[in-house]
Amino acid sequence: MHFLERIKRYDDSLNAFITTTDAQALAQADAADARIASGTATRLTGIPIAHKDIFCTNDVKTSCGSRMLDNFVSPYDATVVSKLADAGVILLGKTNMDEFAMGSSNETSFYGAVQNPWKPGFVPGGSSGGSAAAVAARLCAAATGTDTGGSIRQPAALTGITGIKPTYGRVSRYGMIAFASSLDQAGPLTQTAEDSAMLLEVMCGFDERDSTSLNEPAPVLVESLQKPIRGMTIGVPDNFFDDGLDADNAAAVRTALAEFEKLGAKLKPITLRHIELSVPAYYVVAPAEASSNLSRFDGIRFGYRTEAPTDDLREFYMRNRGEGFGAEVKRRILTGTYVLSAGYFDAYYLQAQKARRLISDDFLEAFEDVDLIAGPTTPTPAFEIGQKTDDPVQMYLNDIYTIGANLAGLPAMSIPCGFVNELPVGLQLIGPHRKEDRLLQAAHQYQQATDWHLKLPPAFI
Ligand code: GLN
Repeated sequence: MHFLERIKRYDDSLNAFITTTDAQALAQADAADARIASGTATRLTGIPIAHKDIFCTNDVKTSCGSRMLDNFVSPYDATVVSKLADAGVILLGKTNMDEFAMGSSNETSFYGAVQNPWKPGFVPGGSSGGSAAAVAARLCAAATGTDTGGSIRQPAALTGITGIKPTYGRVSRYGMIAFASSLDQAGPLTQTAEDSAMLLEVMCGFDERDSTSLNEPAPVLVESLQKPIRGMTIGVPDNFFDDGLDADNAAAVRTALAEFEKLGAKLKPITLRHIELSVPAYYVVAPAEASSNLSRFDGIRFGYRTEAPTDDLREFYMRNRGEGFGAEVKRRILTGTYVLSAGYFDAYYLQAQKARRLISDDFLEAFEDVDLIAGPTTPTPAFEIGQKTDDPVQMYLNDIYTIGANLAGLPAMSIPCGFVNELPVGLQLIGPHRKEDRLLQAAHQYQQATDWHLKLPPAFI
C-alpha cells in the first residue's frame, strides 16, 4: 500500500511507470503474508518491485516503450519475472524505458520522457530510466533493468542508485524482448549493493530456454558481501579519464578510489588500448543484431496494425512498421541493415567484430594483474531533457565507459559516489567473467564506509 500510494502521489510528475498492477500487487501481498506466516518465506518474499517494460509479464501489457507493442499483453512470463515471483516479490508495475531499449535518456519512449527525481527537467538516463527513477524516488524497493551498452549502469549513475549488469549468460534472456542478443543482459537496480546481491542471486541461473545461458549454478552473492577488500588490486584505466570526462565528475570518482585505498585496496594504473573503438564497434554490432531481431514486428501476428486501408501486402508491412516504430528505432534498423548488406559486410560488421575481440583481449590481459577495474560510469552527470536529442552521436557518447563491458561480456556495476551541481554521479566497477561476487563485495564494503547510497532526492522524502 505504501508504495502504491507513493506511485499515485508522485508518478504523474515522474512518468516512471507505463503500467501499474495494483490488484495483482495486493493479491501478491496477501500471498506473501500467508507465506511469511507459514514460515516458508525467502529473503525477497513481500518485497515490492517493478519490472522494466521489456520483460514479458503474463496477462500484463508489455510495451517495450513502443507504439508497436502498445496493445500487446504477454501470454507468458519471462524467466526473470517467474524466478522473482517464485521468491515471493510483489509486482507494482512496469517501468518506462527508451523504445526497445535504444537510448541513453529515456526520451525515445513512446510514453514520453521520464524526469530525474533529483532535478525536474533533467533526464534519468536510459534505457532503464523508469526503473532508475522509480528506485531513486522510492516508488518501489527495487526494479529490474537490462543493459546492452550501459542501460543499467548509466541510469543508476544519473539517479544516484546501485545497478549491476552480470556476466553475459548469467541471467536468462527468455521472455526479455531482444535488442542485441549477444550483448543484452538483465540485472537489478537498487538502493544498495546488498539489495542488488539479493535480487541478482535469484535472477541468475541456467535456463534451457535460452541457448546462451551459462550452464552452471547461480553464484553465491549475499554471503560474500562481508569479506574485507584488503589486498585487492584495482586497475584504473588512464584512458577512462580522458578529455570527454567532466572535471567535477572525475574528482568525485578519484575521491571514491581513494576511499578504496583506505579500505586496503591497491590502485594500479592500466591502459585499455583499444577502448576508443568500443562506441564505433557497438554502433555496428548492436544495430546489426537489432535489425534482425526487430524484423519480427510486422503487425501481422501481434503488435501495431495500421488503420489505413490497403490491399498491397508490402505497403501493409511498411505502414505497420513505419507508424509503429519511432525515429531512433528506425535509425538503428537502417544502420543495421546497411552494415549487414552484402557489399558492406566486410567493411563494417566484420571490422566491428575484430574490434570487439581486441577490446575483450585488453580486458582479459588487464585481469591477469588486477582483481577489478574502476572508473567513471558516465562522462557527465544528468543533462537536460531535449539537450542531446538532435545529435545522436553526442547521445551515443554517454556510453563511452560502459559499452566495453558489454562487448567483452563482463560483469559491471555502478554505485553512487558523489554529486556535481546537486546531481548524482556514479563509480563504475568492472570484474572478470563470473566474478559478480567480487564486484558486489567491493561495492558493499565501499557503501559500509560511505553514505552516498543513502541520499534521497529532497522532493521525494
Ligand atoms: N544507450 C545505448 C544504446 O542506445 C545502450 C542501450 C542499452 O544498454 N539498452 O544503444
